[in-house]
Amino acid sequence: MNCQETSRLIGPLVDDELDVKSAIDVEGHLLRCAACAQEKSELAGLRETARDRLPRFDPPAGLEDRIFAAVARKTRPRRRLPWREGALMAAAACATLVATTVLRPARDDAGEEIVDAHVRSLQADHLTDVASSDQHTVKPWFQGRVDFAVPARDFSARGFALAGGRLEMISGHPAAALVYRRRQHVLNLFVSPAAAGSPGSNSEPRRDSSVRGYRVSTGAQDGLRYRLVSDVPASESDELISLLRGGDGPR
Ligand SMILES: [Zn+2]
Repeated sequence: MNCQETSRLIGPLVDDELDVKSAIDVEGHLLRCAACAQEKSELAGLRETARDRLPRFDPPAGLEDRIFAAVARKTRPRRRLPWREGALMAAAACATLVATTVLRPARDDAGEEIVDAHVRSLQADHLTDVASSDQHTVKPWFQGRVDFAVPARDFSARGFALAGGRLEMISGHPAAALVYRRRQHVLNLFVSPAAAGSPGSNSEPRRDSSVRGYRVSTGAQDGLRYRLVSDVPASESDELISLLRGGDGPR
């Protein structure tokens, strides 16, 4: 979500008119963008002032009834479709659905879902279930909660401080989220078992994508799938990936 989209949605957000997902997206941007946050607080202030200062009027008697009557006239039930026409329309809808399903890449990218989880973690005051920079605290915390060993490692010395971990559900499966901090940024590393049938090893090429302004890097190693989400510069998330892979990272 960029500033332009956010700016358009700030009004509806302040007026409580956004669906939950959009509200989370906007709030997520506001956390990262001082300019938009400022715009929101000004609008919220204006709204408060208006609510306090503007005169209020009671509607004239009967207005409500007249509105409901007018709406009822406009929304008279439509004629029922003959069965043949109805069947054709249903078939067309199915064809569209099939086309959409077939044309969409079948790959389990889960990028949107991952970014949702990332934004939610920043937004909902639920960054960590276990808050610790000590890998000997974080790693055992996951035992019994997920059925794989979570490679929790701290890289404070390289500027990526382990802040803790939490449990997530990604595509219906438990995943471990490891939280790293770099300056004021938060990086979420989602770890889950590599899907059955996938190489699940170093041989899987890494993929990077951009989802709503966040960089999502996906890779696999030692039977585990890694997805790193952050808004730090690409060179910095690359550095963390390199550290995770056991390399030294660019200096
Ligand atoms: Zn902005």
